[in-house]
Amino acid sequence: MTKPTPLIAGNWKMNGTAAALAEARSVAAQVSAGGMRVAICPPATLIERMSQALAGAPVIVGAQDCRCEEAGAFTGDISAEMLADAGAKLVILGHSERRAGYAETDDLVACKVTAALRAGLEPIVCVGETLTQRKAGEALAVVTGQVRGSLPEALKGHAFSLAYEPVWAIGTGLTPTTAEIEEMHTAIRATLRDLFGAEGDKAPILYGGSVKPANAAEILHAAEVGGALVGGASLKADDFLGIIRAL
Ligand code: PEP
Repeated sequence: MTKPTPLIAGNWKMNGTAAALAEARSVAAQVSAGGMRVAICPPATLIERMSQALAGAPVIVGAQDCRCEEAGAFTGDISAEMLADAGAKLVILGHSERRAGYAETDDLVACKVTAALRAGLEPIVCVGETLTQRKAGEALAVVTGQVRGSLPEALKGHAFSLAYEPVWAIGTGLTPTTAEIEEMHTAIRATLRDLFGAEGDKAPILYGGSVKPANAAEILHAAEVGGALVGGASLKADDFLGIIRAL
C-alpha cells in the first residue's frame, strides 16, 4: 500500500492583511515541490490576492470554512463556489474553533463537505477531543464518532484529508505524546477503511495542535501521521518552513 502524499497546511485564522502576503511569497520561494504538498489557508479576504501572488508556485491556497448553500440570503457568509472562484483549491472544515464558537455539529460539517465537493474544493476535515473528554477516557470514541459523522458517503472517490487536532493542544503549546498521536491516527485510519474500504487508505491524516519547528520531526514521523495542520507557526515563513523541512 503506497502512503498518501503528505500535506503541510497553514491555517492563518483571522490573521493577515495585504502586508502578510510577503510571508506567503517567502514560503513559496523556498519550498521545493515533490514528495509533499504545502498549502496556506489565509482569511477569505486574502484568497484571491494570494492565489495571484503564488500563481505557478508549489503552494496551494485554501480557505478556512464555507457555507452549505451555493448562494442566497445569508449575510456575511461565503459559499464554496465563491471560495473556488477566488482561487481556493481546498478548504478546512469542522475546525474546533467553529465547532465550539458556532455550535457546528457533525451533520453541518458533513453538509459543508458536500458543498466543497460540489464546488471542486478538496476538504480538510478537522476532528479532536476536549481535555475533559480525554481525561474521561472518551477521546477515541469521540474522535472516531466525529469522523463517522462528518464524512458524507459522497466523499468516496474524492481527494480529502483528515486533521486530528486535540482541542486542548491548539494554541496552548501542549501536545499529546507520540504514542497518543499514533494511537489516535491508527484508530482514524481503521475508521476510514471501515467507511470507504481500500479508498480509506488514500487520505492523509494530519496532526494539528502546537506544531512548531522544534517538535515537527518527531510528530511528522509518527505512524499514520501524513502531515500537519499548523496554526500560529504558519504565520511566519521561517517557522512554517522549519516545519516543512522537518518532513
Ligand atoms: C489550528 O488551529 O488548526 C492549530 C493547529 O493551531 P496551533 O498550531 O496554533 O496550535
